[in-house]
Amino acid sequence: MRVELVNTGTELLLGDTINTNAAWIGQRLAALGIQVTRQTIVPDGAVIRVAIAEAAQRSDVVLVSGGLGPTNDDLTRESTAELLSLPMELNEGVLGHLNEYFSKRGKPVSEATKRQAMVPRGAQVMPNPFGTAPGLYFPAALGEMLGWNAHIFLLPGPPRELKPMIKNEVEPKLREWLPDGGSRRVLYLKVTGVGESDIVEAVEKRLECVPGLDLGYCIRGGDVDVRLAGAQSSVDAGAAIVREAFGDCITSEDRRIIEEVIVQFLTERGEWLATAESCTGGTIANRITDVSGSSRVFGHGWVTYANEAKQQHLGVPAALIEKHGVVSEEVARAMAEGALKNSGADHALSVTGIAGPTGGTPEKPVGTVWIALASKNAETWTMKRFSPGARDRFKLLTSQAALDMLRRRLCGIALRQ
Ligand code: AMP
Ligand code: MG
Repeated sequence: MRVELVNTGTELLLGDTINTNAAWIGQRLAALGIQVTRQTIVPDGAVIRVAIAEAAQRSDVVLVSGGLGPTNDDLTRESTAELLSLPMELNEGVLGHLNEYFSKRGKPVSEATKRQAMVPRGAQVMPNPFGTAPGLYFPAALGEMLGWNAHIFLLPGPPRELKPMIKNEVEPKLREWLPDGGSRRVLYLKVTGVGESDIVEAVEKRLECVPGLDLGYCIRGGDVDVRLAGAQSSVDAGAAIVREAFGDCITSEDRRIIEEVIVQFLTERGEWLATAESCTGGTIANRITDVSGSSRVFGHGWVTYANEAKQQHLGVPAALIEKHGVVSEEVARAMAEGALKNSGADHALSVTGIAGPTGGTPEKPVGTVWIALASKNAETWTMKRFSPGARDRFKLLTSQAALDMLRRRLCGIALRQ
């Protein structure tokens, strides 16, 4: 099914408003197994008509957002009616909704607002419980004399009005129209700790041999999302190949990010995490506390940037730092074990490294980092990583590696060095 988006609004082209509707619709449709074929942004005004006509010629469904409001730059409704040569008629139902909406707010319905109750003949009203402008659905038959075969949906611009309308009005119809009754599946395997090229090299040839499987990769926040789409059997076959090669690196199969997975695991086990961070400056703690419900699993996090802080708060011996250097396996281990002891948590993650751009040496270049995980009743794990690059990227990748270390321990999977 070819589905096109036409997003209207001068503010989108000026960059004043980010076109979040397109991203959101793209994700919703992808979950149905539909890939948006094209997306166009046009300013308010007459060009909306041209954009809708072009999209309708090429596709089965056109989703238009914006320009249904009461102001005189909101022309989407009228443009579509003109295009399809449909007269405008007052819709009593919509007028009733407008009267009710404004009387609740103690305001009269203005003439400009009443324009929103005008509905092109043959179009179906999609109710808008969160605003005044209703959505409109034009069945494909209305464009037949123009040689089109496209269903056209006009949707409000404000995301809080558009989203429920997509869910409640548009998606049920799309499901009905999907050739295989919506049985197309999409699966995202989130792979952590492996580069995109390694994944491609290891599995792409085999995945290409799976009949009817659409394959895509997306690098995101230090992970690679492998997207598998197609019939259930194709997706299952593809997933089996990826799991066989990278099973221990798959953090989720439902798009959840690693910190969400970790908070869930810790919650289920009734266990607590503490953090002792140097070069990541609290990034790990920040990521964990971004997850709702993290207060049940996270109680202590230290940012011990200075050597003295590592000594004072985590009990790292000054002599250890003196002997091995602050970026060392021994200090990472002492930080994690100190955090475990001082917090009473079940697990403690620590990181110590050189984010750069200054501070590197030939033996310990910028990007070098040691990560440790201490746990009650388990040996302390340590790991060296090298992530040269900008400081924010270094922090992200280091926190990702640390979180993955904990995920592996919680899942009973061996450490990947
Ligand atoms: P409209 O009624 O279509 O002019 O849009 C009203 C509000 O929705 C404005 O605040 C717009 O910035 C916002 N809006 C319109 N289109 C989009 C879009 N594609 N993505 C996000 N917000 C939008
Ligand atoms: Mg507008």
